[in-house]
Amino acid sequence: MRLALLLMSISLFGQTPLAERPGVRRALELLEQRHEAHIAKQIEIAQIPSPGWEEKERAEFMRGEFRKLNLKRVEIDGIGNVLGWRPGKSPRTIVISAHLDTVFPRTTDVKVKKQGNRLLGPGLVDDSRGLLALLALAEALDAGKIETNHTLLFVGDVGEEGLGNLRGSRYLVSEGPHQQLFDAFISIDGAEPERIVNAELGSRRFRVTVKGPGGHSYNAFGTGNPAHALGRIMAKISDLVVPEKPRTTFSIGKIGGGTAINAIPEEAWFEIDMRSSEESELERMEASLMATVKQCVEEENKLHVRRGAPLTAEPKRLALRQAFPRSANEPMLAAARAAAQALGMKPIVLEAASTDSNAAMAAGLPAMTIGGGGKAGGIHSMAEWFEPEGAYRGLQQALLLILGYDEKPHAK
Ligand SMILES: [Zn+2]
Repeated sequence: MRLALLLMSISLFGQTPLAERPGVRRALELLEQRHEAHIAKQIEIAQIPSPGWEEKERAEFMRGEFRKLNLKRVEIDGIGNVLGWRPGKSPRTIVISAHLDTVFPRTTDVKVKKQGNRLLGPGLVDDSRGLLALLALAEALDAGKIETNHTLLFVGDVGEEGLGNLRGSRYLVSEGPHQQLFDAFISIDGAEPERIVNAELGSRRFRVTVKGPGGHSYNAFGTGNPAHALGRIMAKISDLVVPEKPRTTFSIGKIGGGTAINAIPEEAWFEIDMRSSEESELERMEASLMATVKQCVEEENKLHVRRGAPLTAEPKRLALRQAFPRSANEPMLAAARAAAQALGMKPIVLEAASTDSNAAMAAGLPAMTIGGGGKAGGIHSMAEWFEPEGAYRGLQQALLLILGYDEKPHAK
């Protein structure tokens, strides 16, 4: 009877469905059984402050955890990423990553608080959930004694957020010593497992600084005022019209300059973040920004500068990410759909975002970013929250996605 069933499934599916193989079943069960312990670990990770450029403490914690899990060749690489290998039949490698950094400065209170069925904590989800997922998946694979075709490389990377500009994942896939081994890249970022980032937004970021000689606000009146010129630029930028499709956005996120209320500043600046899923829209916005800066500084000089040197402006590019409106990862998408279906999860929703997968796509690797399970909101704010109920299902989906993809024949 068993043999007949086995033969039937072989004839129907080529082999036993992934989720029904004993080792995989054991791994899936473990993810459910260890749910509470995993949430505790996620909280522990979130409570280690890890602002961009200061991820060392969290990296060291993850290195310790990787070692406990028996991952091989555990190390912190040249840029600060923590790496741990799980050898497969082939040295060809699937990278599974989550980011170490948060958007919160060191002074932020990162103590996790409980409120009903919610947990609150800045960085608790983004990306402590992803880091926890790395540990949980490695543990589950071992519990099921699962041997993969590919080698799996678990990575906690630095510099995903803000001006980190993906420095960790970029280094890994395009500069570091292991890049030649990589066949694919899966990033686990945030919570909701049905949301899959399959298209990467492009972004361009600039700091625009206006400079002048400065002087006393009363005595030197008529000297070019960089803050006034900057205000002109910002007002014009606010009037930019951008399309809804492809979704295109801009935001002046930081402004600064000046030293005292009674001094004409020597400089004033803002930082602007522009995003789109189409490169052409980014080019258009960048051109508008440059023209606006030039025009407004000229206007201010002409209308109000009566003494001293004229104002000058320097737009400086801070970061650039290329847009990938469609990623070349059909087999990975198929594996994700199959994983969601096998678990009876919600069908996956494809989204465009800006994640570590951008660096992988730029390096020509099939890549996607998935959530690590649970419900969440308030990301990048002090009110970030997480509802852990059933979050293990996201981990189960990630496991099946990785194993499903691992089995697909690849071009490389
Ligand atoms: Zn994130």
